[in-house]
Amino acid sequence: MNKRQKKKFIKKWLIKEGHSIDGCLYCVDCGNKLDFNSKWQMAYQACDSTCYGKAVGVYYGY
Ligand SMILES: [Zn+2]
Repeated sequence: MNKRQKKKFIKKWLIKEGHSIDGCLYCVDCGNKLDFNSKWQMAYQACDSTCYGKAVGVYYGY
């Protein structure tokens, strides 16, 4: 499976499993589209550590 096929496969899987309605994942805090090539973004479902922190309640007043 090449990179492009893998991306397609992941998108299909996300829709099938009900994780996403359009095959894209979005940041849990700000709603930005996430990059399938970023392992960090895929693991935490946030665009960066600030958003992740806000989503889990680590940062206050940011
Ligand atoms: Zn974000």
